[in-house]
Amino acid sequence: MIGINDKGFPSLTTLSHNNYIGRFAPSPTGPLHTGSLFTAVASYLDARHHQGKWLLRIDDLDTPRNKGDSVAATLKTLEAFGLYWDSSVYYQSQHLDDYATFLVTLAQSQLTYRCICSRKLLANLPSNESSNTQYSIYPSICRHKSISPDAPHAIRIKTSDCTLSFNDKLQGTISHNLAKQYGDFILKRKDGIIAYQFAVVVDDYLQGINYVVRGCDLLAETPKQIYLQQLLGFPTPAYMHAPVIVDQHGYKLSKQTLATAVDTQSPNITLFGLLVLLKQNPPDSLFGGSVSELLGWAIIHWRTDELALCSTISM
Ligand code: GLU
Repeated sequence: MIGINDKGFPSLTTLSHNNYIGRFAPSPTGPLHTGSLFTAVASYLDARHHQGKWLLRIDDLDTPRNKGDSVAATLKTLEAFGLYWDSSVYYQSQHLDDYATFLVTLAQSQLTYRCICSRKLLANLPSNESSNTQYSIYPSICRHKSISPDAPHAIRIKTSDCTLSFNDKLQGTISHNLAKQYGDFILKRKDGIIAYQFAVVVDDYLQGINYVVRGCDLLAETPKQIYLQQLLGFPTPAYMHAPVIVDQHGYKLSKQTLATAVDTQSPNITLFGLLVLLKQNPPDSLFGGSVSELLGWAIIHWRTDELALCSTISM
């Protein structure tokens, strides 16, 4: 049972428990593909191996990218693979008031500012001209300007020039300097959409998540999230960034690379293949076994030593 503080949010003391609460947080931008199922299986097995809870969150804030029937398709795929989640599904779109509240908290502490810079302006800045890529470090142009709340604006967080380190369960110690490597990053976009970085911090806190298992493609985002947790006084979960599956050209399987939806016809065969990719070394005798037999075996034997320090796995 999670206690509620006087602001109506889970109280920090009751959230810092030892019981493992993990989660899987797909974005509904298309049906689950093998790469996302791989992450789902890793986070599910890690949670269940530790007798933990496994929650499901739908990261549906980026509405222009959402695809109509992906949520139903995602839930169906998870069920077909026996990946049953605890509690009801958490939808980010039902927590807009929570993001607004915590944004006010940061603003009141003078930690954020309004930014009216357009992408075009930033892409054409002299320091970025030599690079083919989009600007990566925002040069704090609006940080000291007074910008009217009526002007269309994004909200940025002030970053500081110090090194933030955390210990990833698979990737070891990760150290980043937020100001030098990322600059003041966006919490709320100019189109009004709450940025992933910020939403995920609020969600993990509200859901009481204390163990995050997700793909290595999000490793570089983690220091920004830990920074926000520290500013908001939220506990920092343990992190484990698992490898991501890449295709024969070395590209991460994703909706952008047109990875096809997971085939749910023979989930047990696909699941066996995923356990092999996850370096679980399932015995041959399990091949052809049911999904629940495979998961039962994998929960008991879950190990991560062979997964350590690899960021990609080829299919
Ligand atoms: N929704 C994100 C994605 O699908 C994952 C968020 C997270 O695990 O923090 O890539």
